[in-house]
Amino acid sequence: MTKDKIILPGDQVSTSEELLPGEGTFEEDGIIRAARVGTYYVDEKHRRAIIKPLTSIPVELKKGDIVLAQVNSVRSNMVIAEVIHVIGKNRMITGDTNGTLRVSEISKGYVKDPSTEYAPGDIIRAKITQVRPSVQLATKDRDLGVIKAICTKCRYSLNKKENYLNCDNCGNKERRKTAIDYGEYDIKKF
Ligand SMILES: [Zn+2]
Repeated sequence: MTKDKIILPGDQVSTSEELLPGEGTFEEDGIIRAARVGTYYVDEKHRRAIIKPLTSIPVELKKGDIVLAQVNSVRSNMVIAEVIHVIGKNRMITGDTNGTLRVSEISKGYVKDPSTEYAPGDIIRAKITQVRPSVQLATKDRDLGVIKAICTKCRYSLNKKENYLNCDNCGNKERRKTAIDYGEYDIKKF
């Protein structure tokens, strides 16, 4: 894994046999995963895996920002997602990061139930449509939607096929409102 690659929450960076989980990581079933957006770094002296934040200068969310957010919960008429990164800012976020994505703002087509489009743990690229009194998100455009999702059965990363996401581990097939570049972490888009 190269140092300059952007790491997303949930990405595997190492194993507990190789390293200890350090700052910005957590361990799960012997796998060390990222807990935040950043770059991967190994503290050789202490044999720890670390995810460094892109920078530590805080930024406030603004209307029109394109952000990365992690889906926390999916309700009957909305999705709750935590904003984790502002694209192009390379900074930590200050203030309210708890975003709401209403069912009508998910896709250009009609969506009846948000759970057909998003699942908890998904990393989505979204546009901020309002900051106050609450952070509102939209994912209607083609470049917005899920960029990374894990299998709801076995938690393995899902791969995009023509019109569905496939789990190469257990064979599960899932549906999402994906961004056009699902699965490709283009550094220019961070
Ligand atoms: Zn699976």
